[in-house]
Amino acid sequence: MSGAQVDVRHVRKSFEDGRIRALEDVSLEVAPGELVALTGPSGCGKSTLLNLIGALDRPDAGEIVVAGEDVTRLENPSRYRAQTVGFVFQFHNLITTLTALENVQVPMLDGRRRAVRERRARELLDEVGLAARERSYPPTLSGGERQRVAIARALANEPRLLLADEPTGALDSDTGAQILELLRGVREEHGTTILLVTNDDAVAAQAERVLRMRDGALVDAAANTVVSSAGCKPAHPGVLGRADS
Ligand code: ADP
Ligand code: MG
Repeated sequence: MSGAQVDVRHVRKSFEDGRIRALEDVSLEVAPGELVALTGPSGCGKSTLLNLIGALDRPDAGEIVVAGEDVTRLENPSRYRAQTVGFVFQFHNLITTLTALENVQVPMLDGRRRAVRERRARELLDEVGLAARERSYPPTLSGGERQRVAIARALANEPRLLLADEPTGALDSDTGAQILELLRGVREEHGTTILLVTNDDAVAAQAERVLRMRDGALVDAAANTVVSSAGCKPAHPGVLGRADS
């Protein structure tokens, strides 16, 4: 299945009755099959934006169209989360009492027969280079290996969009580079659109395009170089822009 187009239009999101303005008029487009990195200081709204695109939360205003569907107005967001998007987080969120093979099957517990699920889970573990560890439990795997299992799990239902929130944030730089290599391979193989949050410049450099955020808004590359050391003030009105690295 081909990658999803993502259109974010004039999205706003605040928390705590408006006291925390996490996103201020954010607009961006990601083309099908594009690998885009989203960077910016802690607290600038990167995770909030990813969560809205993944329909884990709803914006206060604006629209988010993924593969032609406005995900802010879904009747069945859980179906969208299960079938259209895959999530990878900084901390893998694997179930420690399940083996790697069982963890990868969790998103497939929708009536599919066990033999069918297991075959698919094996294919996925093979794809992420962990075929030999299918019986291993997460605590016995390295950080990079756990993240590979998490990626295999995210790919279980052939998502058209992969949302990865600091997937290399807890890894050393070599392991992080390998995870990025894996994500690039996924994109090549399946055409999956990938939106990746990272604070690692080496990781961002592997993306086709880098979007920078500050104070709940996207900033353009030139502005960002001037203010790159600025702290993050979530209530500060930001500038709308788009950075083509
Ligand atoms: P980033 O991922 O860039 O570090 P976040 O999107 O997590 O930033 O957070 C943006 C701002 O919104 C921060 O000020 C954060 O404290 C606030 N925030 C995020 N989620 C919530 C929430 N559920 N309740 C209250 N404030 C939140
Ligand atoms: Mg975050």
